[in-house]
Amino acid sequence: MSDMNKGTEAAGSSLFPTYARYPISLVKGEGSWLWDDKGNKYLDFMCGLAVTNLGHAPKQVKDALVKQLDELWHVSNLFHIPNQEAAAKLLTDNSHAEAVFFCNSGAEANEAAIKLARRYHQKVKGNGRYEIITFAQSFHGRTLATLTATGQEKVKEGFGPLPEGFRYIPLHDIEALEAAITDKTAAIMIEMIQAEGGVIPVEPAFVQHLAKLCKERGLLLIIDEIQTGMGRTGKLFAFEHYGIEPDIFTLAKGLGSGFPVGATLAKGELIEAFTAGSHGSTFGGTPIATAVVKATVETIIGEKAPQRAAESGEYLMGQLREKLAGNPFVKDIRGKGLMIGIVCSGPVANIIAEGQKRGLLVVTAGPDVVRLLPSLLVSREEIDQAVSILTSIFADQTAPAQL
Ligand SMILES: *Cc1c(COP(=O)(O)O)cnc(C)c1O
Repeated sequence: MSDMNKGTEAAGSSLFPTYARYPISLVKGEGSWLWDDKGNKYLDFMCGLAVTNLGHAPKQVKDALVKQLDELWHVSNLFHIPNQEAAAKLLTDNSHAEAVFFCNSGAEANEAAIKLARRYHQKVKGNGRYEIITFAQSFHGRTLATLTATGQEKVKEGFGPLPEGFRYIPLHDIEALEAAITDKTAAIMIEMIQAEGGVIPVEPAFVQHLAKLCKERGLLLIIDEIQTGMGRTGKLFAFEHYGIEPDIFTLAKGLGSGFPVGATLAKGELIEAFTAGSHGSTFGGTPIATAVVKATVETIIGEKAPQRAAESGEYLMGQLREKLAGNPFVKDIRGKGLMIGIVCSGPVANIIAEGQKRGLLVVTAGPDVVRLLPSLLVSREEIDQAVSILTSIFADQTAPAQL
């Protein structure tokens, strides 16, 4: 790739240049490993952004997909879809939620959560509330409503006018939160670890206060589990670490092992807010998508993926803290389970590029944080290899990174 094309599509590409792509074409994946079109092998510590949580092409999920491809691809949500019922039951059996709406992406899952919260207040409670409070540095998606919910200006530039009814407050600021609640407030929406925002775990005391406030003031608590869910942080859902039960939560990334699917889950009292015809999606919960969800959830539970993520995460975190101790470029190492951020004192783009050269794929979370998102089934040997590559890269990092 020439410099001229850096940050755009390759010359002659017919794609919009919405992604500043790395100069690598990956063509094959298995477990924690990826291969490019030149035969180079990479240890995958980003998992397509917390999507391929069971590694690439996990057998049980692949078998379910191939079986379903032979039987039926698509009908319509005007019919009963047995796989969709079964996948929803599996999710409600393994959480406090009592109803599931399937869609095709994280943004759509959050869009449905916002719609559900508004409609519950307006149609069930009859109080006309519509405002959603979100947090600085949050990320909730790219549709108009979800980019408006997102607490980062860069995703909003040039897309106005934006929908009304969103307020933002700084994370961990209880006074600002209480001041932002009005008789129009419908819900508070939050990630348990701000992932895109820099791998920032929310303090337990703040989460508990938030949950208490929601109960007292009749607000709905929406937790965006799109990146933190499906075992990533060491529990099936990250809110389980905090001993709370959100009214609504959303899933996507790890839910389909790489097959595009999202879901909005809610407590029983919200069911009547989504009556027939009030919300829908042509492709939401197809026989194929929900065969994949069912196999993914069964594998996560069968393989004890959340527990493994907790144990591997503790080991990985310990190794990083030990091996990177005293490195002047490393400011902090934080996260939960297998969502770990190495917070640096400068831009980390060259660390990502150097990792690629040395056979390790990691990703940023904001300009100064290296984010590690390995498969939940990663082995000790694979963790040791990744730590050894990272240690050598950071050892070469004498001055703040240049780029
Ligand atoms: C990725 C992500 C989304 C958006 O999901 P898409 O599938 O890209 O629409 C929303 N919220 C969080 C926390 C995410 O990490």
